[in-house]
Amino acid sequence: MDDTLDSAGAVRWIEDFIARFEADRQELAELDRLSGDGDFGTNLTAALRRVRTALADGPPGSVSDVFARVSTAFLHTGGTSGPLFGMWFREFARATAEQEPADLEAVATATGAGAATVRRLGGAEVGHKTMVDAMVPAADALTAASAECTGLSEGLRRAAGAARAGAQATEAMVARRGRASYVGEAARGVLDPGAVTVALFFEAGAR
Ligand code: ADP
Ligand code: MG
Repeated sequence: MDDTLDSAGAVRWIEDFIARFEADRQELAELDRLSGDGDFGTNLTAALRRVRTALADGPPGSVSDVFARVSTAFLHTGGTSGPLFGMWFREFARATAEQEPADLEAVATATGAGAATVRRLGGAEVGHKTMVDAMVPAADALTAASAECTGLSEGLRRAAGAARAGAQATEAMVARRGRASYVGEAARGVLDPGAVTVALFFEAGAR
C-alpha cells in the first residue's frame, strides 16, 4: 500500500499550500478588507513565514512532527484565523502521531477532529460564512472516502472539491460569526477568505 503520506510528502503538501496562498494573497487580503478588517493577508503571511522557518529547522522526523510545527507556527500568530488554524493543525498532528506513514483513515480522522475543534472554539457552524464552511465538507468527504477505502489520493481529491464548493457557497451568505458578521449585508457577495484558504490547503494535498 503506497497511497500514504510520509514526512517528505507532508512537507511538500505544506510547501505547495504556501505557494498557492502566496499566489492568491492579494485577492484573499482584499476579501478580508471587504468583509472584515483587512488583516487576514498579513496574519496568514506571518504564520506561513513561521511555518517555513519551522520546517527548515532540521528534517521532520514524522508526518505528525510536520503538522505539529505548522500548528505551533499558526498558534503564535494573531487574528482569529491564526489560533483557529493552529488548533486545526494540532488535530492533524495528533491523528497522525500513532501511524507512519499516515493513511486515508488517519487523515480523515484528523480533518474530522480538526473541524470539530474549530467549531467548538469559534462557535461557528456550516452556513455562518467562516472557514468551517470548507472544513466540514472536506472532513465529510474524507470520512466517506475512508469508508469506501478509496485510498488517500482519491480522498484528498474529493476533499478538495468539497472544500472548494463549501468556500464558494460562502459568497452568498451573510456572516454569523467573526468580523464579517459586523458588516451584515455588505459582505454578501464576498467569499470568506478563511474558507478559501482551507480549499487551497486541500487542493495542495490533492495535487
Ligand atoms: P479577524 O477576524 O480577527 O480579523 P482574521 O482576519 O485573521 O481574523 O481571520 C478571518 C477569518 O477567520 C474569516 O475569514 C473566517 O474564516 C475565520 N473566522 C472568524 N471568526 C470565526 C469563528 N468564530 N469561527 C471560525 N472561523 C472564524
Ligand atoms: Mg481580519
